[in-house]
Amino acid sequence: MRKKIVAANWKMNLDLNEGAELVNEIFKGLPILNENKEVVIAPPYLHLTQTAAQLAGMIDVHLGAQNCHSEASGAYTGEISASMLKSAEVEYVIIGHSERREYFKEDDAMVAKKVNQALSNNMKVIFCCGEPLSIRDANTQNAYVEKQIKEGLFHLSESQLGHIVIAYEPIWAIGTGRTASSAQAQDMHAHIRNVISIHYGTDAADEISILYGGSCKPSNAAELFACPDVDGGLIGGASLKANEFLGIINAMAEA
Ligand code: PEP
Repeated sequence: MRKKIVAANWKMNLDLNEGAELVNEIFKGLPILNENKEVVIAPPYLHLTQTAAQLAGMIDVHLGAQNCHSEASGAYTGEISASMLKSAEVEYVIIGHSERREYFKEDDAMVAKKVNQALSNNMKVIFCCGEPLSIRDANTQNAYVEKQIKEGLFHLSESQLGHIVIAYEPIWAIGTGRTASSAQAQDMHAHIRNVISIHYGTDAADEISILYGGSCKPSNAAELFACPDVDGGLIGGASLKANEFLGIINAMAEA
C-alpha cells in the first residue's frame, strides 16, 4: 500500500532557535499516524544535525534535506554531498525543486545526476516537477511534466523507483496563494501515474506516492488529499507555522 506523506520544505527560513522551537511545537500537536502515513521535515542544511537529534526516536517524522550536489565529492566550495547528508541521518532529499531549476539553472540532466547521488547513498528522493503558468495557459502541462519525469527518472530500475516520491508542484501555485483546484491536481497526478505505469508497469505506478505542492493550507488540504491520486503534500509557507502545518498533517491523518 502506498504511503501518504506530508513534507515540510522550510526553504531558506528560520534560524537555529526558531527551527528547534517549530519542531517542538509540531511534536506537541502531532496526531497518531497509522503505519502508511508519515511526516518529513526538510530544514536548511545548517539545521540538520539539530533537527536529527530532535527527531531521534520519532517513528512518524523523518528528516529531509532540500538539495544535494550532483557529484560525490571534490572542489565544489560551499556545496554539500549526498554522503554528507546520509551521515547526518537524512532520509529524504528534495531534488528538482522549481526554485533550484530556475535560480540555480538545474536542468533535467543535473537533476537526474542528483537523483543518482541520493539513491546511491541509500536515501529516498522527493522528485519535484511542475509547469510554469505559460505552459498551463497553453494547455501543454501534461507533455511538459511528462518530459521532466522521463528525463529525471526513467534511467532508474524499477527497484530504484521504489525509493522515489514524486511531488507535482505547478510553479504558478508555489508561494502565490493560488492553489491548483483539486480537479487540476487529480488530472495531473493521474497523468503522472499513467506515465509511470506505461514505463514501469501498474504495480510500480500503484506503489509510488505522488504529493501535491503549491499553496497547500489547512483550508484546502482535505479536499486535495481526498483525490484518489493525491498522496499528500509538499508544503512550503504553511510548514513554517506549527498550527498550519499540523492542520495539514491532520488532514492527511484523516484522509
Ligand atoms: C514549495 O515550494 O515546495 C511549496 C509548495 O511552497 P508553498 O507551499 O509556499 O506554495
